[in-house]
Amino acid sequence: MKRIKIDKNKCMACYNCILACMMEHNEKGKDIYSLDLEDKSNECRNHIEVNHSKENIPIFCRHCDEPECVNTCMSGAMKKNPHTGYVEYDEEKCASCFMCVMSCKYGVLKIDEETKSKIVKCDMCENRETPRCVENCPTRAIYFEEV
Ligand code: SF4
Ligand code: SF4
Repeated sequence: MKRIKIDKNKCMACYNCILACMMEHNEKGKDIYSLDLEDKSNECRNHIEVNHSKENIPIFCRHCDEPECVNTCMSGAMKKNPHTGYVEYDEEKCASCFMCVMSCKYGVLKIDEETKSKIVKCDMCENRETPRCVENCPTRAIYFEEV
C-alpha cells in the first residue's frame, strides 16, 4: 500500500502540486491550457500553508489508518477502501453535514465553493499509478512511498 508522504523542509511553495491536482481533475482537459484558475467547479484538493515560523507546509490527505472523517460520517459517504487503503468520498451519499471537515485533524478537507454542499477530497488520482501532484513536485517535498 502506498501513501503520499511529506517533507515540509523541501517545500518551496511553487504550487506545482496544486496546478497538477487541478489539471488532473479538470473536465475540460488535463493540460495547462485548459485550466481556468477561477473555475469554482475545479478546485484543488490539497493546499500549502505557511506556519508561524514562515515554513511552507504541504497539506495533503493522509488516507489515515483510523480516519476520523470516516468515523464521523453518518451517511456512509466517507469510506476506507479495504483493498487500496484509500479513503474515498461518495458525493451521492453525502448529507452535507460537514462533520468530516470538522473532524480531520490535518485540516485538509474543504466545502466546495460552487454549491457549498460537497466535499473537495483527494482521490489519489484514481486512474494513475502515481498521483500527479507527486510527479509534479520538483523538490520531492511530497513523495509516494510503500507503507
Ligand atoms: S480527510 Fe483527513 S481524516 Fe480523512 S483520511 Fe484524509 S487526512 Fe485522514
Ligand atoms: S510542488 Fe512540491 S515544492 Fe512545490 S509547493 Fe507542492 S509540495 Fe511544495
